[in-house]
Amino acid sequence: MTSLDRRRFLQLSGLASLGALAGCSRGSPTIGPIPDPAAAIVTRWRADRLARGSYSYLSLDSRPGDRELLAAPVGTSLFFAGEATSSSNPATVHGALMSGRDAASRLEAVANRGASVGIIGAGAAGIAAGRRLVDAGFGVDIYEARGSIGGRVLTDVSLGVPIDLGASWIQGVAGNPLSVIADSIDAPRIRTNWDDTRTYDVGGDPVGDRFWSAPTRTVNGAARQGLTIQAAIDDALVGRSQEYVGQFEFAVVAEFEHEYAADVSMLSAEAPHEGDYFGGADVLLPNGYLELLQTLTGGLDLHFSQAVERLAWSNDGVTLSFARTESTHDHVVVTLPLGVLKTNDVVFEPSLPAEKIGAIERLGMGLLNKVVLEFPQVFWDQSVDYFGYISEERGKWAQWYDMEPVTGRPIVVAFNAGSVAEALEAMSDEEIVADAMDVLRAIYT
Ligand SMILES: Cc1cc2nc3c(=O)[nH]c(=O)nc-3n(C[C@H](O)[C@H](O)[C@H](O)COP(=O)(O)OP(=O)(O)OC[C@H]3O[C@@H](n4cnc5c(N)ncnc54)[C@H](O)[C@@H]3O)c2cc1C
Repeated sequence: MTSLDRRRFLQLSGLASLGALAGCSRGSPTIGPIPDPAAAIVTRWRADRLARGSYSYLSLDSRPGDRELLAAPVGTSLFFAGEATSSSNPATVHGALMSGRDAASRLEAVANRGASVGIIGAGAAGIAAGRRLVDAGFGVDIYEARGSIGGRVLTDVSLGVPIDLGASWIQGVAGNPLSVIADSIDAPRIRTNWDDTRTYDVGGDPVGDRFWSAPTRTVNGAARQGLTIQAAIDDALVGRSQEYVGQFEFAVVAEFEHEYAADVSMLSAEAPHEGDYFGGADVLLPNGYLELLQTLTGGLDLHFSQAVERLAWSNDGVTLSFARTESTHDHVVVTLPLGVLKTNDVVFEPSLPAEKIGAIERLGMGLLNKVVLEFPQVFWDQSVDYFGYISEERGKWAQWYDMEPVTGRPIVVAFNAGSVAEALEAMSDEEIVADAMDVLRAIYT
């Protein structure tokens, strides 16, 4: 996929080798040279024209009810789904899935049997809407600009094992509709634990874990105090030592900015209180997330490499224009990502109602990117699920996940979010990987 600009590097040479000499260990498990990665994949979700970001968040400008405005049908012909329309489970795969089912139910309530339905987008929302409508007897065509289903569920196999470059976790397995799908195909799942982590300071020394609770309390308490999150943090950090500030900011990044894919300075104080959570563990899918969506596609009419450019709608129907063709349907379900709706890449004629446009403008589209690194062998600490790094530059390379137990290969994944991720996207893959290697060498050499 060129749009994601992911590349495989074989035998990366010339990358930073500064830390390659054996040095003193400061509590990290391995002493010795850290090898260059044998392969790397870098995601760029902001640059991806079919996503234009990772997932939505409640911004400082958001108003209560914005997600409902985004989800609201327009007349009887246009229906909306997608993670950003979900007020119960935004920014998740299960939220997208449920929003697709909800849009299908709304459509069924007004449509004549036998009506023709077009769906724009074959991500979780589009596939779920299509499944429900086909099962209810509607004729459904799903138009997808990419060459395959999934959207922001993107399982890459270029390393020879499934690696999820978009969504990775089923977040909360208890009662989650994704668990029902995973059970139906007996998909293996691996429980992970966010609390199972070790954090290292800028020089690579492990720091204790007593610093987590104050930042969490501060961010969660901002709304109650009538403050923005940033103002609450600023108050909490007055007169504190540099070390305290560094650990506090790190916890804010790891706990909130990676969760909401945006700097806390951009987040509404309501963001941490938005929506519901399924209980139970978070799990990873060793066979890849995509197979969950694939199980829903039986009998669906999927049209790939069909980018909708224009959508002309009235209550009599909707005409979709593509580069060379058109198709007309009685009803259309739009599952375009919020990031795409924020652009003029798809033209609505007439334009959408002002209140929906307002919601599109106010909601934020965040950024979370991954860097996947495969090495000749594991050299990182495997006694924890995650490790964290308090870098000099706030939030950079803050979280890393050990993928060896999931893939059986010496693979580690780094996460960056918000403005840090935006800045990294502007760098070349070689520069990004070299920067990541500086961190691994700081910790493990
Ligand atoms: C890096 C990352 C990590 C994430 N981690 C998790 C996680 O661990 N757990 C979790 O639950 N969620 C996670 N998410 C969020 C989750 O992936 C999304 O919420 C969900 O997949 C969105 O589904 P959707 O159907 O709303 O949108 P999409 O999957 O984006 O589907 C929309 C579809 O529309 C298509 N499209 C765009 N423009 C056009 C056009 N003009 N014409 C036709 N088709 C078009 C796109 O190609 C896409 O396939 C993550 C996302 C990212 C990016």
